[in-house]
Amino acid sequence: MSIKHNRVLFIDRDGVINVRLIDDYVTKIEQFQFLPGVLEAIAAFSKLFDRIFIVTNQQGVAKGLMTEDDLKKIHAHMLAQIEQNGGNIDAVYYCHHHKLDNCECRKPKNGMFLQALKDYPDIKDSIYYMVGDTKSDMGFGKNIGATNVMIANSDSELNSNYNFVFPSLKKLSSDIHLVLG
Ligand SMILES: [Mg+2]
Ligand SMILES: [Zn+2]
Repeated sequence: MSIKHNRVLFIDRDGVINVRLIDDYVTKIEQFQFLPGVLEAIAAFSKLFDRIFIVTNQQGVAKGLMTEDDLKKIHAHMLAQIEQNGGNIDAVYYCHHHKLDNCECRKPKNGMFLQALKDYPDIKDSIYYMVGDTKSDMGFGKNIGATNVMIANSDSELNSNYNFVFPSLKKLSSDIHLVLG
C-alpha cells in the first residue's frame, strides 16, 4: 500500500520574493520589486507543488506605517504579476501584529500554518517545505516539521537551522531536484 503525500511549499516574502528594504517596510506598490528570476521560479514551483502559500510578517501595519488595505493592495499586485507569468499561489497569509503583541501568527510561531490547514484541509499530512531568509522563517519551518530552505544573501540573518541553503529563489528553482529528492 502506498500513500501519496502532497508537497506543500511555504515561501516568505521580503528578501525571498521581493527586495527586502533593510530596516524599512514595503508600504506601497512602487516599493515592491521582484528579485531576479522569481516569477519564473514560482511558475516552475507551481508545477511541482500541490499547494503554495506565502507567509509573511508585516508588523509595519501595527506600527502605523501602512494600513492593512495598503498591504492587501501590494499582495494583489504581487499575485497579478505571478499569475501573468504562469505561477499560482493558493493564499497569502500575513501577520500584521507588532512583535511585542505576542500574537499566535507571527513567525516563528505556527499560526499562519494553522490557518492554512483550516482553509485547505487537504494539506494535512503533506510534505512541507519552508523557504525563507531569516531565523524566524527557519523557526517556523521547524515548528511545522518542514524541510527548511534558507535563502542566504548578504542581507540574510545567519543561522544554522536549515536543511538546504541557496543564494536565491532562482537558484533553488534550478536545483529543486536536490531538495525534493
Ligand atoms: Mg524575509
Ligand atoms: Zn500576528
